Amino acid sequence: MPINLLNLFVLPMTLLLAALFAAAVFYDITVFYRRRKNRNRAVYRCKECRHIYTEFRRTPLARCPRCGKQNEPVRAE
Ligand SMILES: [Zn+2]
Repeated sequence: MPINLLNLFVLPMTLLLAALFAAAVFYDITVFYRRRKNRNRAVYRCKECRHIYTEFRRTPLARCPRCGKQNEPVRAE
């Protein structure tokens, strides 16, 4: 059986591109659902105990669940 030189390169290349495309689609879906889950949330970092927690965005200050200090949001998406 003669080995076709075209198939030797095209077949692995096609498989590699398909795998990369599948990884990109999986990444997009994962990021989309994670963003939707945290849509109305803001991230807070406590200045006292460095505890990181999330709260609804509309509160300008949120109480740390660990030590009780009020903190401002670090970032709001
Ligand atoms: Zn704290």
